[in-house]
Amino acid sequence: MAERFDAIVIGMGPGGEVVASRLLSAGKRIAVIERELIGGECAYWACIPSKTVLRPPEAGTEVDRAAGVGGAKLDWAAARDYRDHMARHLDDTGQVTGYTDQGARVFKGEARITGPGRVQVADQELTGEHLIVATGSEAVIPPVDGLDEVTVWTNREAYTATDLPTRAVLVGGSAVGIETALFLARFGVQVALVQRSDRLLAREEPRVGELVATSLREVGVDVRTGTSLRRARRDGTDSVLDLDDGTQARGDVIILGAGRAPRTVGLGLEHAGVTPGERGEIPVDDQHCAAAAGVWAIGDVTAVMPFTHVAKYQGRIAADALLGRPHAARYDGIPRVVFADPEIAAAGLTRSQADQQGLRTAAVEINLAESLARPWTYERDPRGHLGLLADTDRRVLLGAWAVAPQAGEWIHQASLAIRAAIPIDTLLDQVAQFPTYSEGYHTALEALDL
Ligand SMILES: Cc1cc2nc3c(=O)[nH]c(=O)nc-3n(C[C@H](O)[C@H](O)[C@H](O)COP(=O)(O)OP(=O)(O)OC[C@H]3O[C@@H](n4cnc5c(N)ncnc54)[C@H](O)[C@@H]3O)c2cc1C
Repeated sequence: MAERFDAIVIGMGPGGEVVASRLLSAGKRIAVIERELIGGECAYWACIPSKTVLRPPEAGTEVDRAAGVGGAKLDWAAARDYRDHMARHLDDTGQVTGYTDQGARVFKGEARITGPGRVQVADQELTGEHLIVATGSEAVIPPVDGLDEVTVWTNREAYTATDLPTRAVLVGGSAVGIETALFLARFGVQVALVQRSDRLLAREEPRVGELVATSLREVGVDVRTGTSLRRARRDGTDSVLDLDDGTQARGDVIILGAGRAPRTVGLGLEHAGVTPGERGEIPVDDQHCAAAAGVWAIGDVTAVMPFTHVAKYQGRIAADALLGRPHAARYDGIPRVVFADPEIAAAGLTRSQADQQGLRTAAVEINLAESLARPWTYERDPRGHLGLLADTDRRVLLGAWAVAPQAGEWIHQASLAIRAAIPIDTLLDQVAQFPTYSEGYHTALEALDL
């Protein structure tokens, strides 16, 4: 007979974990199903290992750029060991025990929905009043001839590699491509990065793409924008990409960072009344992450915003709705950080998005070193730019971006200002600590032509 639960969580990445924890705290009887490792892509093959291996080069840059200190030496073996420790050596035994101890039934296996509120995992059938689908996403494999003849990695191989290649070609100029290119280049790999669009980070302000291309080139990455893959082929031991501008990119390995696809194939969504969208994503209402009666979807599988913090937020939204205390999801002002060097951070709208909404705007960009002390106390030859976009009618911030040290930390002030629509006059009256990068907001706000 089918085992019965208040809720069944399918997929235990960051989104699924938040829902599961919240429902357990509320005393619900839940089943959690995970086909690989509890913690999901983020914990083992994405956010955690990537940020861990990006940190030593970043610390090295800090040493090299600060006056009065020197001699930073990168040690791949030590970085890799710490990465493996942070990724729990791909072992989720502790997580399985943890959830079991909290009262969840943990099933390791591939879940398949077989009917409304019914899920099959291995030879067991479960029923639940609510199904929460949190199955995440996987790397897109572009349909390029010859790709099966060359050595192809995705983020999984890149962030579990024991030995690094000598030369690598990165495909894709968004966060994954940029971070992976930087990590490899700083550890001595010869890297080419190929991007179809004319600029890196094509969804951000064009200026952000320019700045990041410059910083990548400074560490030796061969950045090639505005060119697509024509075909892949093997040449001896080399993996080669022929590009449509007539050039080639060759390396020991081709690393794909060309987008993510929601994991919905074979999930049996049709049995729960859910029809995936064009990209395979689960469409959800923009309020509570509801996908159908008794079905909720959260995280990358919804394709709303492919970030761990968004998956976790949607987990809180869905769990609270399911527990009878609904509050509507809002996505404005959510930060988007690329852990490059210097960091790239953005929140809110770009100018072209604001134009599409018919908003009247004013924009400004400042060079932080021209007006602040912090960039100079922080490093010789300081780096850093901040851009703001304001709504001139409402006199509130609509968007912000920064390419500067620690920008991923101090973007949160803009994030809150955008989300809470804090009046610009209030922001102008705020006092930031001297000497910090945060002081840049005041300078930029004063320069806005409102
Ligand atoms: C290289 C890289 C770096 C990244 N860095 C960052 C970062 O720094 N910050 C950030 O915010 N985001 C980052 N991201 C994005 C982040 O990893 C995702 O947004 C996040 O993992 C989404 O969480 P999720 O819970 O939706 O899905 P996932 O983490 O993908 O987890 C989904 C889980 O569902 C399981 N599953 C799937 N199908 C089934 C099934 N049928 N039955 C049972 N289980 C199933 C999977 O095995 C998986 O464990 C990065 C992504 C990549 C690729």
